[in-house]
Amino acid sequence: VKVFDSVRNIIAVSSGKGGVGKSTVSANLALALQQEGAKVGLLDADVYGPSQPTMLGITDRPYSVDGKTLEPMIAHGLQVASVGVLIDPDQPMIWRGPLAVSALQQLLKQTNWKDLDYLIVDMPPGTGDVPLTVFQSLPVSGIIIVTSPQELVAMIVEKAVNMAKKMNVPILGLVENMSYLECPDCGKKISVFGESQLDEVAKEYGIPVLAQIPIRPAIAKAVDEGTVEYVEADFLDDAVKAVKEA
Ligand code: ADP
Repeated sequence: VKVFDSVRNIIAVSSGKGGVGKSTVSANLALALQQEGAKVGLLDADVYGPSQPTMLGITDRPYSVDGKTLEPMIAHGLQVASVGVLIDPDQPMIWRGPLAVSALQQLLKQTNWKDLDYLIVDMPPGTGDVPLTVFQSLPVSGIIIVTSPQELVAMIVEKAVNMAKKMNVPILGLVENMSYLECPDCGKKISVFGESQLDEVAKEYGIPVLAQIPIRPAIAKAVDEGTVEYVEADFLDDAVKAVKEA
């Protein structure tokens, strides 16, 4: 489906709650697609905690050439827009659904996206009113769900499946982040949170597991320093494939 003249596919990255690595996965998925030669944009729609500008090391403010549209910020080759730039970081702000949605609509439609193959949307976590309203306002071609093993994965997937059904959008697959720790000496996988229920749940709902990403100090460091780079290259191959086929 062609969304706008300038954006061909919108892919939403969602999660059950905050802190599981949804933003990290969004940025890395965008970079992985770009690495394959696609033109990629990243829309930070996480109205609860917009973190893409920090993760991508963006410090400048967006500007307008014509007074009507906003130029996307460019970071690591990606075209980026974030609800974060509409929020004064020093002002606590209660984001209500309609307010969040109008800000996002503005970002989506008035950003001067330049010929994007994919726009990756870092969604607000959960399936409550705010994420739902945001979802309904975006013409999404597929959803990727990020989970972590310390959650009740079955419940999160069930909710996501219901939401996706309601909106008639396919779930492309599950990405489990912080799946395990790698022993620095022997490379063995250590399941910090016990065995994950991911595979069973995935099978039950007929949704593919696209990636299992370990806890890596390098990932945390890159994210915190705004140098989020292509640290999960080897993990996101299946996710990239799923997005291309969406
Ligand atoms: P969310 O978007 O779900 O709220 P973030 O992507 O912001 O989560 O990640 C939360 C924190 O966890 C960040 O500080 C990030 O650096 C860290 N993090 C995410 N994924 C990993 C990982 N695989 N290994 C180590 N740290 C990670």
